[in-house]
Amino acid sequence: MASRKQIDELKIILEEKQAQIESNIADSKNNIAQLKENECKDDFDFAESSSDSFTLEVITKQQMKELEEIKNALKAITNGTYGICDMCDEHIAIGRLKAKPFAKYCTSCREIYEEENKK
Ligand SMILES: [Zn+2]
Repeated sequence: MASRKQIDELKIILEEKQAQIESNIADSKNNIAQLKENECKDDFDFAESSSDSFTLEVITKQQMKELEEIKNALKAITNGTYGICDMCDEHIAIGRLKAKPFAKYCTSCREIYEEENKK
């Protein structure tokens, strides 16, 4: 299981990532607004700018999902439940947390989860 020190280190990583994603999302939102404004003014580039704003919206949605996961992980650190698998209540390996600090499941549950979602 992760030690207090390891959790503190991961908390810093999570907080940095949270700040980074929040600024990315703010940027994307500005870009989307700008692209949409251009679309209205300029019919010529319509197709191209539409797909640009669509891509940005997809990216923004993914980032918001990631932000949500990071916030949940930070909440779990506060509650003392961080690093515990959501499915089997086992401790998630520190190596896995270092690779993905907001992991919700241990490696074996993650595999089951992915298998279930394929169906
Ligand atoms: Zn598990």
